[in-house]
Amino acid sequence: MANFGIGQIQSTARVLLICPDCGQENSEYVDVLRGRRMYCCGGDGCDYIFDLAGPRYAVGRGFVEACRKFYAAIYALRA
Ligand SMILES: [Zn+2]
Repeated sequence: MANFGIGQIQSTARVLLICPDCGQENSEYVDVLRGRRMYCCGGDGCDYIFDLAGPRYAVGRGFVEACRKFYAAIYALRA
């Protein structure tokens, strides 16, 4: 994933957010995630919240970092 860039992702593309707590796969549009600072897991009885804009990152940068984490989680699970 060395050349991964959020700019290459279309607004209508979907991002898979895999919950580290319950394993629920939350599929959401990039456009939707872009406007959020956090995303709640849709798993049954799970209250995990994905932090899309950590305090250490500026808005936008945080989203990219978050996406990298999500993709890392996907690859970790499917490797
Ligand atoms: Zn969950």
